[in-house]
Parts: sequence; C-alpha cells; structure tokens
Amino acid sequence: MTNTKTIPVAEDLFTWPSDDPRLIGSQCADCGLVAFPAADLCARCGSGKTDRRTLANEGTLWTFTTQGFRPPTPPYNGNDTAETFQPYTVGYVELADGLLVEARLTEPDPEALTIGQRMRMVVLPYSVADDGTQILTFAFAPAGAVAEEA
Ligand SMILES: [Zn+2]
Repeated sequence: MTNTKTIPVAEDLFTWPSDDPRLIGSQCADCGLVAFPAADLCARCGSGKTDRRTLANEGTLWTFTTQGFRPPTPPYNGNDTAETFQPYTVGYVELADGLLVEARLTEPDPEALTIGQRMRMVVLPYSVADDGTQILTFAFAPAGAVAEEA
C-alpha cells in the first residue's frame, strides 16, 4: 500500500495529526456547558456563542455494554460483514471536564472492564477508503493497558 494518508472518520472529531490527540468539543460562552461532539448551538441555553476546545484525554468508565451484532448500515460502515463482525464493547467515559462521552472501548471482553476504572483516549484504524487512505476513529482503552504497551 503506497497511500499512507490518515484522516479522522469525521471532521472536528479529534485533533489530527497529533502525538497527543484530543477530542474536540465545544464550550458555551454564556453558560459554560461543554459538549461533545462540538455543537454550534448550546444544548442547555440555546446560545450560538460556542467555542471549540480540546477535551481531557483521560476519564473514568461510567458504564458500558457489549455490541454483540453488526450495527445496520448506514450509519455503520466498517469493512467487516455480518460473518466477520467481532463483538466489541461501547461505554460512556466521564472525562475530567465532567462530560460523558460515548465511545467504543478497545477491550472486547466485558469481564475485563470495571465501572470506575481509568480510561485513556486512543486513535485507531477504522476502515480504509477506496484510494487507500486509512480512516481513523477514536476509542477508549484501559489506562493501565496503554501504559503497558508504551
Ligand atoms: Zn449555554
């Protein structure tokens, strides 16, 4: 593969390229509400004065569940099929900002996860476009596991 380009799966999702990628959220200039994904209108007070800001890259696991079947397409557009689909876990991670972020988790075994454990945001491959561009998404990994791999 000669195309080594990498892009986030959606614009305004996380900072990239980056050695320390962060999710991109928004903060309301009027009431201070932090939102993810970034929103132009504040969900709490309706203000249009929101600013983009990066979010904490660590948090605690708030709750999680297992995705045991391939989600319908669209919106899901992974490169797998119903036959090759591998169950995975999704969860809510409470960031230091006090914000709950719904995300895929890197640990597929729910028995290995504990509510309240430290989680760290990671960027990982999602799919490959027709031109070979690697499409990236974000997930949360147990913070201890990230340290062990580093
Ligand atoms: Zn507001």
